[in-house]
Amino acid sequence: MPKTDVLVLGSGIAGLTYALKIAECFPKQKIVILTKGDESESNTKYAQGGIATVIDTLDDSYEKHISDTLKAGDGLCDPKVVQMVVEEGPKRLYELINWGINFDKSKLGTYDLGLEGGHSEHRILHFKDITGYEIERKLIIKIKQQQNITLLTSHFAVDLITEHQLKRPRSKQKLTCYGAYVFNQKTQEIVTYNAKTILLATGGIGQVYRNTTNPIIATGDGIAMAYRAKAQVSNMEFVQFHPTALAHQFSHGRSFLISEAVRGLGAILKNEHGEAFMHKYDVRKELASRDIVSRAIDNELKISGADFVYLDCTAISKKDFKQHFPNIYAQCIEIGIDINKQMIPVTPAAHYLCGGIDVDINGCTSIQHLFACGECAHTGLHGANRLASNSLLEALVFAHRCFIETKKNIETIKNKTSIPDWDGKNTFETKERILITHNRKELQSIMSDYVGIIRTHERLHRASKRLNVLFEETEDLYQKSKLSTSLFELRNMISTAYLIVEQSMKRVENKGGFYNSDLI
Ligand SMILES: Cc1cc2nc3c(=O)[nH]c(=O)nc-3n(C[C@H](O)[C@H](O)[C@H](O)COP(=O)(O)OP(=O)(O)OC[C@H]3O[C@@H](n4cnc5c(N)ncnc54)[C@H](O)[C@@H]3O)c2cc1C
Repeated sequence: MPKTDVLVLGSGIAGLTYALKIAECFPKQKIVILTKGDESESNTKYAQGGIATVIDTLDDSYEKHISDTLKAGDGLCDPKVVQMVVEEGPKRLYELINWGINFDKSKLGTYDLGLEGGHSEHRILHFKDITGYEIERKLIIKIKQQQNITLLTSHFAVDLITEHQLKRPRSKQKLTCYGAYVFNQKTQEIVTYNAKTILLATGGIGQVYRNTTNPIIATGDGIAMAYRAKAQVSNMEFVQFHPTALAHQFSHGRSFLISEAVRGLGAILKNEHGEAFMHKYDVRKELASRDIVSRAIDNELKISGADFVYLDCTAISKKDFKQHFPNIYAQCIEIGIDINKQMIPVTPAAHYLCGGIDVDINGCTSIQHLFACGECAHTGLHGANRLASNSLLEALVFAHRCFIETKKNIETIKNKTSIPDWDGKNTFETKERILITHNRKELQSIMSDYVGIIRTHERLHRASKRLNVLFEETEDLYQKSKLSTSLFELRNMISTAYLIVEQSMKRVENKGGFYNSDLI
C-alpha cells in the first residue's frame, strides 16, 4: 500500500501549484500527484483568454474587479470570498511570473492587458491565445525539478477513503479522509493510497454534455467521489455555456473555443443574414456577460432554425488578429476560414461549472483533511455565473489558501495505520463494452436536450426519469464487469448529471447562468 504525506488528485493549475508550494516549503514531506490522463491533459492546458487580475492601478482598481465579479454572479457570490480573491490575485500572479511563466507585454514593456465580456477594464493577463498551455507546460517543468514530488500518469482516482471504508459505525463526528483507491490503468489494478492530507483538483464536468469546450478528462470525477463520500456539493445547476465555440467537427471530443477576447478586440455576432443582433439583448452588446450572450445566441438559433450564428472578425486587422490569437487564426485556416474574408460559425457549448464541492475560505471541504480547489470546488467566488478569466485566478488563490491551511498541521498529523484494501469486484470481462459507450452518449444527449441553456420543469423531469434508467443499467454493469476507466467515468458522469438536474429542480428563481423559462 503506497503511503504518502500529501496526495494530490489532478495535474491542472490547482493541483500543480498546491503541490509545488508544499514541496518548496517542506522538503521532507512526500507528495504524490496522480492524474488520469497524460501529465498535462486538463482544462488548464486549453485556457486561452488568460487570468483576470488588477495590476494596472491607474485605470483599474480592486473595487472595479470586485464589482464586475459580483455583477456577473447575480447576487449569489460570497462577497468576502470575492474581495479576498481579487485582493490576493496580484501576489499569486507574480508568483507564477517568478516561476518563469510568460505573459505578453506591450511595446512599452508593461503587461498587455486584454478586455473580456463583463469586465469594465482591461485586466486580463495572457500569453498570446495559449495562456493555459504556457502555464501548464512551465508548471510541469517545475514539478519535475522537485525531488519530493512524484507525478504518476494514467492513475485514475476511484473513491476517497473515509470512515465508510473503515466500516466504523458513523459517529456524529466529522468524517475524515485517509486517502484514495486508485485504478492504475497500466496494470489494471486498484491501489490503496494512504495519505495524511488529500487535495481534490480534478477539474470540470463539460463532458456530461454533447457539445463542450472541455477535453475528455472533464467527467466530474472529483465531484462524484466527494458526493459518494458524503461531502457537501452545491450550486451544480450553474453550468456556464460559452457563447462562441467553433461550430465544426469536434477534435478529440471537444469543441475548439473562440475566446471572449476576440469580441473584446471588436468581433461582432451576426445571424445567418449577416445582421448584428446583440443590441436587442443587452446595451453592452458583444461584451455582455456569457450567460446573456449564450441565451441571445440560443434564442437566435431557435428563431432561425440554424445550427450556428457567425462571429464577424473582418473589421479586425489580420496583423492584430494573428498577433493576439495565433492559435485561433491557425485553427480557422485549417478548416478553410480566412477570418479577414469569412465569418466564423459559432455556437454555445458547455464550458465551466460554477458550483461543485463546498469549501470554506481556506479550501477545506466538509470532510477533515480533504481539500478541494480549482474547477471542482464551489468557493463562492462565481455565484450564479463566472466572470471571464476569473477561474484560473480562483484556482491560484485557493491553491495557496489550501497550502497555508495544510502547513498548519502537516508535520503533526499521522497516516492512518490500517486501511482496508478495495473490496470491489474486478472479475468478468464485459461481453459488450459498447454498452458503456452507448450509455455515455445517451447521457450527453439527455443533458444537452433537457438540461441546457434554457430549462423547463418538464425537461428537467424528463432528464431525471431517463437518468434513473441509465443509473440502474450502469450500476448493473459496475457490479458485473471488469473495471475500466470508461466505466468509472460513466458512473461519475451520471452522478454529476444527477446533481445538476436535482439542484436545477430545486431552484425557484432564475439567476445568472441558470434559466428555467417556467420561472419567469
Ligand atoms: C477551452 C477552455 C478555455 C478556457 N479559458 C480560460 C481562460 O482564459 N481563463 C480562465 O480563467 N479560465 C479558462 N478556462 C477555465 C479554466 O481553464 C479551468 O477552470 C481551470 O484550468 C481548471 O483548473 P483545475 O486545475 O481545477 O482543473 P484541470 O485543469 O481541468 O485539471 C484537472 C486534472 O484532474 C485530473 N483528473 C480528473 N479526474 C481524475 C481522476 N478521477 N483521477 C485522477 N486524475 C483526475 C485531470 O486529468 C487533470 O489533470 C477555460 C477552459 C477551457 C476548457
